[in-house]
Amino acid sequence: MSQRIQKLQPLLANQIAAGEVIGRPASAVKELIENSLDAGATEIEVDIEQGGIQLIRVRDNGSGIHREDLLLATSRHATSKIQQVDDLDKIATLGFRGEALASICSVSRFTLASAQESGKGWQIQIEGIHENPEQAPLAHPRGTTIEIRDLFFNTPARRKFLRAEKTEFDHIDEVLKRIALSSFQTSFTLTHNKRQVRHYRKIEQESDRTARLSALCGSAFAEQALHIEAAAVDLRLSGWTGLPTFSRNQGDLQYFYVNGRIVRDKLLNHAMRSAYHDVLYHDRHPAYVLFLELAPQQVDVNVHPTKHEVRFRESRLVYDFIRRSVHDALASLRPGASPSAAPTKITFDKPYTGSSTKPSTSSPVSSFKIQEQISLYKKLHEDRVASDVPTRDALPKIALGAEWQEASPPLAAAARAPTPEKTPAPSEPPLGHALAQFRDIYILAETSDGLIIVDMHAAHERVLYERFKQELATQRVPSQVLFVPLTVTLREQEVDCLEVHRHSLEQSGWGFEPSSQESIIIREVPQLLAQADLKQLIQDLACDLLTQSKSTRGEELLHKILGTMACRGAVHAKRRLSISEMNALLRDMEKTQHGGQCNHGRPTWMQLSLHELDRLFLRGR
Ligand code: ADP
Ligand code: MG
Repeated sequence: MSQRIQKLQPLLANQIAAGEVIGRPASAVKELIENSLDAGATEIEVDIEQGGIQLIRVRDNGSGIHREDLLLATSRHATSKIQQVDDLDKIATLGFRGEALASICSVSRFTLASAQESGKGWQIQIEGIHENPEQAPLAHPRGTTIEIRDLFFNTPARRKFLRAEKTEFDHIDEVLKRIALSSFQTSFTLTHNKRQVRHYRKIEQESDRTARLSALCGSAFAEQALHIEAAAVDLRLSGWTGLPTFSRNQGDLQYFYVNGRIVRDKLLNHAMRSAYHDVLYHDRHPAYVLFLELAPQQVDVNVHPTKHEVRFRESRLVYDFIRRSVHDALASLRPGASPSAAPTKITFDKPYTGSSTKPSTSSPVSSFKIQEQISLYKKLHEDRVASDVPTRDALPKIALGAEWQEASPPLAAAARAPTPEKTPAPSEPPLGHALAQFRDIYILAETSDGLIIVDMHAAHERVLYERFKQELATQRVPSQVLFVPLTVTLREQEVDCLEVHRHSLEQSGWGFEPSSQESIIIREVPQLLAQADLKQLIQDLACDLLTQSKSTRGEELLHKILGTMACRGAVHAKRRLSISEMNALLRDMEKTQHGGQCNHGRPTWMQLSLHELDRLFLRGR
């Protein structure tokens, strides 16, 4: 026999709601800090004891709560932030659901003290049930203090899920970090068991923002991130996005804010992955801290109680805007694209002091610490904005020696890529002039301010890849008919797989047909690869397609194919290049998008400045 229906007691209803909103101490901290920010606080102090299980105290200097609203603030569905359904359409505050305080005080021993005018404060205390708690006057500075003790003391089921003190505290630390990353005008202090753990000063000037970024995400990220500032009708994207060379093996440094609210959103994630797909291995993750701003009407934040998800009215538009903005910023990373750019810098841990270091075993070179092309990229970006500035990619094209043209059709063809027609500047090319090849791996080149070192395979790989993409964009990759068709033996499933992807392969310049269950005849090959090891290449392609074609499709798959072609077709380490070949490659790099990295995100070149060399040899001291 079924039970009769009863209305839940308010306490129980609040505790159920708390189950959704307050999963652990960190979620209570998030709600409290968001309330402080909504109240316009510029200083927020968070005190934690025992990972927040014993105590969470948040104190702010915001607007305070009216004496007569104190109790109301803690009841469910009570908020000062919206009044009618239309307001849901234009939410400009972090909170609006009116459930956080009610949820929190139903599962803790709760104290709320607040003053709208300094000295004239009031306080209430609630333990679970709050039937007319006493309200007492209190000397409290303008602002609000909320204290939560013994979280989940009356909900044992939830209490059981609390982790070790340290773990809970780490979550709180992360919550504060996320908020501090977006609220630059507020200072934050965090203490744990009475010890100050964090202090983030408020940022008065735009230019100091990177200081907080460094404090929160590490100086390595701050140094190796591109500053992004992009705007389209009604959309604005700003923040920092990591260079491909700063990729990570987890998505742990990805912060995306929509109108100041941190979100985890599939669409945004996908847009970011897509912006990086050309420059990162598929198992690497980009790092970023980005802020998207758009009219509140364009985004619905009322999707989930924790407000971590959003829905965009024009999701396609948002997707394309983000992808394009980030992609373009990354694509601009090429050597010498800016006049005053210092290309990749190599710095030294210590100046080399001959006597103290054993000569042969630890050469000074091994102590090089590579500092990425940051200043270049940052500068570059600024210059891109002020696009009138003449840039160094307006270069005279260096004629190729005949020997180069014959010796290496793939490279030579790449070198003939159309140059963006600009007025030639009489300056020296950014990557300088080739001096020699070192170990058959690196090209050494000289510029007026230093020595450039280029990984020739990585560089050529990028040049080829971008060239293939350009060709593909205009129709299909041009192919060359083989004089003598080439038969390649493969596994049966590889032959089938090539057949399945025939269309993509043809677009990529290949012409082939099966000649048996386990072999194919190749009749046409991409022009740029005519000299490559074709057998090996088609085997690699078949193997890649077999393992990746299920997870990738369309354009992305095509780009995978081109990526393999570029990697396999690029000049290999161990090949001797002539000086003119080297120079041709340098000039190609200068006009190639993403020229600073190979397709896998490794850097393609570095610079050792004259100044650094002088330091190394203690010259001029
Ligand atoms: P919401 O933030 O969704 O409105 P809450 O339950 O978090 O709901 O808070 C209820 C109300 O209490 C808020 O609308 C606000 O008016 C008030 N309030 C809460 N915290 C603060 C604070 N730190 N400073 C000023 N007012 C606050
Ligand atoms: Mg709130």
